[in-house]
Amino acid sequence: MIDKPHDYCGIFGVYDHPDAALLTYYGLHALQHRGQESAGIVTTYFDEKKDRHIMPMHKDFGLVLSVFDDSKIFKRELKGNLSIGHNRYSTSGSSKNPANIQPFRVHYRHGNLAIGHNGNLTNARILRDRFRDEGVLFQTTSDTELILHLISHSREEKQIDQVLEALHQIEGAYCLVILTDDKLIAVRDPNGFRPLALGMKDGAFIVASETCAFDIIDAEYIRDIEPGEVLIIDRNNGESEPLKSYYLDPKEGTTTSQCIFEYVYFSRPDSRIFGENVDKIRRNLGKQLAKEHPLNEVIKYPDRDKRPIVISVPDSSNTAAIGYAHESNKAGFDCKYDIGLIRNHYVGRTFISPGQKSREQKVRTKFNTVRGVLEGRSVIIVDDSIVRGTTSRYLVEMIREANPKEIHFLVSSPPITHPCFYGMDFPSTEELIANKFNGDVAAIAKEIGVDSVRYLSPGGLVSAVKESNDSHHSYCTACFTGDYPVPVNFGVEKEENEIV
Ligand code: SF4
Repeated sequence: MIDKPHDYCGIFGVYDHPDAALLTYYGLHALQHRGQESAGIVTTYFDEKKDRHIMPMHKDFGLVLSVFDDSKIFKRELKGNLSIGHNRYSTSGSSKNPANIQPFRVHYRHGNLAIGHNGNLTNARILRDRFRDEGVLFQTTSDTELILHLISHSREEKQIDQVLEALHQIEGAYCLVILTDDKLIAVRDPNGFRPLALGMKDGAFIVASETCAFDIIDAEYIRDIEPGEVLIIDRNNGESEPLKSYYLDPKEGTTTSQCIFEYVYFSRPDSRIFGENVDKIRRNLGKQLAKEHPLNEVIKYPDRDKRPIVISVPDSSNTAAIGYAHESNKAGFDCKYDIGLIRNHYVGRTFISPGQKSREQKVRTKFNTVRGVLEGRSVIIVDDSIVRGTTSRYLVEMIREANPKEIHFLVSSPPITHPCFYGMDFPSTEELIANKFNGDVAAIAKEIGVDSVRYLSPGGLVSAVKESNDSHHSYCTACFTGDYPVPVNFGVEKEENEIV
């Protein structure tokens, strides 16, 4: 509905807690922003009467609250101390297929296995062709199924070795939670594209895409799963230490490339990802924006009562706007952060607006202006990104109705010019406003109806992130620069090779 890229999935796992499914439900709810079309939970327990492990599953289309709207599901169905969960967003073509809802669960010669995936395999085509040649039938259009086939086709004896062998054959972006009959396995690809963290609650281990999922269940953050780490959590492994890590090597010639867009927009500001708080990074992006684009020479105002106001496009741009106002004031540009746009949080993805003006109506349904703040003032809008520019244009139209003196649009990231092949959904390259106008900011400003548009530079983005996060890991910036850290070999239509 809102013109932003979409992340595809959130994942969550619990090892050894009597309320494993319930904790997973809360965790998925906190990760709802990472996928809003379907949700699912798988647990595992040993059934004494049947003398075997059972792996119950509950999943469906819809938000977490509606998929798990019956509390009996947790007591009667989703029994067991181990659990994994998955939130999914999908492309329109495949979203109607219930087979694509994760987690996926299989029973094969070594027991039960379930998997939840956040990311996108870049060698999916090669693997799919190989399996098709061998006569393997696919039940879904998801590349996650390939991982299950790789595990079940392995000739290794031990299940852990089968998983490791499978992981050595996949490339691209993948954070995984894998549930066996008695283990939880958390995996982050060697490039570390997507975030994944380890936490603890009441002695139980928790794994989540973002740490906001720990906070909702009052779990303690322990550390990030490292790029390339395969973390096996198993208290029955005969060793005193329940955690055992293996490491996957990055593809030759590549280094870590954590998705910088997670900091710009995708992750929740109250999360800690890649070793640093998202809120702190966004604030720094706003400060960097102020350093690169001081507006004191551009905006003139007669008295302090009429000083320019800085507003954010809520909620993802709030802290960048605060950072911009703070740094501008420090540099002598007297501006004031204020709330000029209000967001309605009760509008879900399913909101339908019939009629010609539906997109405009959707924006009006999601946002409203605070007229008293905007009227007669020079307005500086800070947004985290512009994709097609459609939402920006409607927002500006609404702000103009409040009679501001002028409007300047500042973006706390560089122009988006390239698609993402590592687990984010962007519109086609031609639809991106920066490409449509060949990077001409004056033309972009005219298109969205503002007096000027200014972007953060690619160098400024990276340095602002690194200034706040001194981790030795580096970042992917491909959607801004076209510099893809891992070669892409899809070769199939996007819908066929669905991203999760
Ligand atoms: S291309 Fe952009 S969105 Fe995709 S992983 Fe790289 S930085 Fe993130």
